[in-house]
Amino acid sequence: MRKLLFQSLFYRPLTEAAPTPDDAALNELATAVGRAARRRLGRSLSIREVDAGSCNGCELEIHALNNAYYDVERFGLRFVASPRHADVLMVTGPVTKNMREALERTYNATPDPKWVVAIGDCAKDGGCFAGSYAVVGGVSDVVPVDLHIPGCPPTPVAMLKGLLALLERVDKGAVSP
Ligand code: SF4
Repeated sequence: MRKLLFQSLFYRPLTEAAPTPDDAALNELATAVGRAARRRLGRSLSIREVDAGSCNGCELEIHALNNAYYDVERFGLRFVASPRHADVLMVTGPVTKNMREALERTYNATPDPKWVVAIGDCAKDGGCFAGSYAVVGGVSDVVPVDLHIPGCPPTPVAMLKGLLALLERVDKGAVSP
């Protein structure tokens, strides 16, 4: 016990260093997404995450958007518990046969205007799970997809860039709500 106490006094913690409070690039990006959402919707952007059968790697990165480092809620991006409150469905994973109906029902429960963002390589075409007996395919095989963000998994910054690109395309009328 004494040894442990001495170690905790003299060794650095094994955790990652705390981020600098002013990560300018991240702040600028998240602010741009929040501003684009307010311009388009007149309020914050509400996101419902749907795991259609992923390995949870993509979820870890999506959860990071809400952690103390990224903390996207301060920029007006909110994750909501119900599709009825959502503007964007963020869908991860290949769509499994067991989740197909749940994804369809979630899509139908989301009010217009709504956009579907497929997150990760699996969401595009099944990725490394393509061809499995348990998999239907990519997200676009089940519901219409407005944007795909590649990566295995994509980083939180890639997701923010994707959301910004989506909102800018909506603003220019390239994607209809
Ligand atoms: S894209 Fe990669 S991290 Fe995401 S669900 Fe597929 S295998 Fe997992």
